[in-house]
Amino acid sequence: MRRIGIPKALMYYRFFPLWSAFFRELGCEVVISDPVGKGFLGRQSVAYFEDSCLPMKLMVAHCLDLVEKVDTLFVPRLISIHRKYIMCPKFRGVPDIIKLATGGQAEVMDEPFDFRLGNDPWGAFSRAIGQRLGWRSREILAASRGALRVQAKFEKDLVRRVNGLAIRDIFNLERPTPEATSPAGNLDVALIGHPYNLYDVDVGKDVIGMARELGCRIAIADSLDGYEIDKKVSTLSKEIYWSSGREIIGAALIFLARDDINGVVFLSSFKCGIDALLQEYLKRVFKGQRESIIPFLTLSLDEHTTVQGMATRLEAFVDICRDGKRKDAR
Ligand code: SF4
Repeated sequence: MRRIGIPKALMYYRFFPLWSAFFRELGCEVVISDPVGKGFLGRQSVAYFEDSCLPMKLMVAHCLDLVEKVDTLFVPRLISIHRKYIMCPKFRGVPDIIKLATGGQAEVMDEPFDFRLGNDPWGAFSRAIGQRLGWRSREILAASRGALRVQAKFEKDLVRRVNGLAIRDIFNLERPTPEATSPAGNLDVALIGHPYNLYDVDVGKDVIGMARELGCRIAIADSLDGYEIDKKVSTLSKEIYWSSGREIIGAALIFLARDDINGVVFLSSFKCGIDALLQEYLKRVFKGQRESIIPFLTLSLDEHTTVQGMATRLEAFVDICRDGKRKDAR
């Protein structure tokens, strides 16, 4: 049985259900990387990428963990996951970075994915991979359709998983989705950012768990309509070309305007040009507001971010949100 390694980093935190279901349907064994451990930054192959953002360094570390355990590393070249907009340019180079870091020890499956091309980009992508694995069109089609159903179900359940499961289980498909969100939360806080900033404990330090402990129900961008996000972003004076940037800024604008949200937290990657730009955008949006709006917090994440530092800032933020909610109730 062919062993396909899926690194637990970057867009694993969006597409793992789709990718893993597809490979399993095609009879492959899916191997996920183990936690990288504290010393991963000291590994020489990771240190080469010192100038990169933390999520990118973690991608290298996860691939290094997998390289001796699998036949093939799955590192697609993600160019676009949106009909019009593109991914951060670093995603195009990820397969090359991984080939360099792993020194050719494992085959790297690096088929490009560009959602802007053709009528059925997922169909074309899955066909290219399936054929590389030696399967015929009929089996590939059945596997790709089955995988889309798994992904759609996962996305439908995501808010409940975020609010009802420990962070390590959100993407563990063997854990069923809890029936209802925790009734304990008495504040509604939106967490926005790249999915790996939210769900990768080595980046976001389990901000989801911390916020839930403080009595927050979590709202996420995935619960919003993509069309609504696009509409909101198109009102800005400048076009944003990166799909993740559009999602983040659109979600921020929508959540900030909603009466049922008590605060918004933006998890931003230090050394990320897109996030730096988004912060500037948001600052300008706030400047234009005459009336006070709900509390907004930016948490900048890198390898020096500590759990204690995050917890302190989040606690103070939640106090402010709670105070604002009390005032509104008067
Ligand atoms: S969008 Fe930012 S955080 Fe994500 S990979 Fe690109 S530079 Fe890194």
